[in-house]
Amino acid sequence: MSKAQWRDIEMEWSDLMPDLKEYVAMTRGAAIYRDEVDDFVETASVGDLAKLTKIFYASMGLSGEAGEVCNKVKKILRDGGGVLSNEMKTKLLGELGGVAWYLVALTEELGFEIEDVLEYNYEQILGRQARNTLKGDGDDR
Ligand SMILES: [Mg+2]
Repeated sequence: MSKAQWRDIEMEWSDLMPDLKEYVAMTRGAAIYRDEVDDFVETASVGDLAKLTKIFYASMGLSGEAGEVCNKVKKILRDGGGVLSNEMKTKLLGELGGVAWYLVALTEELGFEIEDVLEYNYEQILGRQARNTLKGDGDDR
């Protein structure tokens, strides 16, 4: 591709993208969580803050470990040529353990036991099978 063609593509792209400062201003205007956090912190007790922080911590850990699983799976293709080796399976086993650990931690921070999660999910899946709604969108289908 010639330099002129690249220049044309870059100009078309810059026409599509909002101005960076405009974009940053838009995100600041839409960041309603900041006021919500400030309002919460002003009125919350130390116990409320500790409880919510533990829930946030476990949630972020769960998301992080799930991301690590996905990254390892990606590497099956990127570094392993699409071959799922025993070494990679062992690494995935370890990452799934991280997911399980944070799942249990978050479950308990929410006041449940892991059995509650499995039972709730079991009933949910059975209900969707009975209603023929395994496909589709929505938590309550
Ligand atoms: Mg991990």
